[in-house]
Amino acid sequence: MTRRKMVAGNWKMNGNLALLAELDAIAAAAAAHPGVDVAMAVPATLIAPAAHRVPGLLIGAEDVHEADSGAHTGCVSAAMVREAGARFTIVGHSERRHDQHETSQDAWAKAAAAHRHGLSVILCCGETGAERDAGRAERVVQAQIEKSLPENASGDWLTLAYEPRWAIGTGRTPTLEDIAAIHAIARAKMRQLIGEAADGVRILYGGSVTGENARPILATPDVDGALVGGASLTAAKFVPIIAAAD
Ligand code: PEP
Repeated sequence: MTRRKMVAGNWKMNGNLALLAELDAIAAAAAAHPGVDVAMAVPATLIAPAAHRVPGLLIGAEDVHEADSGAHTGCVSAAMVREAGARFTIVGHSERRHDQHETSQDAWAKAAAAHRHGLSVILCCGETGAERDAGRAERVVQAQIEKSLPENASGDWLTLAYEPRWAIGTGRTPTLEDIAAIHAIARAKMRQLIGEAADGVRILYGGSVTGENARPILATPDVDGALVGGASLTAAKFVPIIAAAD
């Protein structure tokens, strides 16, 4: 099965209205590479102005609450970000697992809420450095997928992202062999859980992807794209990754 490549950015807790100017060149690059799905997750405050500024670009949220509404001070629901113009959300990012103590079960509930409200989902998984050093990377990723993948997941609305925590923002990346091995294991686990639908689910690699290392990573078996943090903040750094995916 052929899966379209995706390059998704994640601004994390960075950016302001002035930085939205970067999206103009990113949207132009997306239009110039129609074979690649280009997406950008931005802070909740920037979703509406970003979606308004670059309607052709897939703008998304970095997280949503699992409930539709209620007494959850400071949180935003899938319905809220959808109304603001988001078309997808990230769930289960390792920074939320670390900072907010979110679990794979939380990621499952958030993915389900997002789907209920018409959002696509980028579901993250990935081991810590200590887990990799202990030889547990494969088992950790399998367990995360088992607990967080919705039963009705399909490539129509869900994308998996393998992001080893130790590679995020560090400039370190796994070897291409290690990336291929985990992606193959992730695909096999999804097949076990949702059958043939798993073949339509894209698996992105994330963790210190740059314009310099993107091409070999994106050519690795079972890598269907990239989730990019730091290098998504400027068009100068992000556009070469889009080009490398084409
Ligand atoms: C991320 O935050 O999802 C990420 C991959 O960050 P970076 O590209 O900066 O490592």
